[in-house]
Amino acid sequence: MQEAARWQSAAASVIFRRMPTRPYILAESTWKTVDATPYEVAVLPWGATEAHNYHLPYATDNIQCDALAAEAARRAWERGAKVVVLPCVPFGVNTGQLDIKLCLNMNPSTQAALFSDLTHALEGQGIHKLVVFNGHGGNDFRQIIRELQPRTRVFLSLINWYKVGDRSSIFTAAGDHADELETSVMMHVAPNLVRPLDEAGEGRERRWNIGALREGWAWAPRRWTQVSADTGTGNPSQATVEKGARYADEVASKVADYLVELAAADPARLYADA
Ligand SMILES: [Zn+2]
Repeated sequence: MQEAARWQSAAASVIFRRMPTRPYILAESTWKTVDATPYEVAVLPWGATEAHNYHLPYATDNIQCDALAAEAARRAWERGAKVVVLPCVPFGVNTGQLDIKLCLNMNPSTQAALFSDLTHALEGQGIHKLVVFNGHGGNDFRQIIRELQPRTRVFLSLINWYKVGDRSSIFTAAGDHADELETSVMMHVAPNLVRPLDEAGEGRERRWNIGALREGWAWAPRRWTQVSADTGTGNPSQATVEKGARYADEVASKVADYLVELAAADPARLYADA
């Protein structure tokens, strides 16, 4: 038994030694590589730590952000774009879920301070294009970027990955949390972390009883425990790994195109006559 354990650990270290590092992933890169690489674009995945119905883990948003940003960066890198994916920020705005155990809220003002610090670090190091790659609906970086942009020469932009693809061409059920889309993508990027779908709740979302809020032209943040019993909004029962792969491929392809174009772009010349 001990012999077998020793053999297994030796085999595991061989596997680790053989794993190539990805030069477009900062967490896997060493100083020598970083020092020699003229990065044009940094990508900052930003997720959340929160409950995702009964079948997806708390790190769902972070796992998806990391996987999709890495795949988009790989495709862009192979086309010559010097992009680097930064470590994911794992905490998002969860002010509507403070009463759900271990939903770990980071306030928008704290996010703004963190984002500003990272932007200024990159600015001093000559990396002048930064893309926030967001995976959590409660994170809203537009106002943060509007405030920060005039104070930095780093060109800031935002991608919400779950809005990049054509949702309606792949998924049938509505929803926006632990739903068919998110479950399918997790089946594709981290199948070992998805519980069997017969364990999932239906993700039934209770609606506002005030008309304007129900119709959506008046807005207020949702109080999650009153909206959903299982913490999901959207029925995940029709999720499949094939749907997740299709959507992830569409996201990676479009984001890679953006990164290639952005890497080559002159920030002083971002507009043209029609
Ligand atoms: Zn999520």
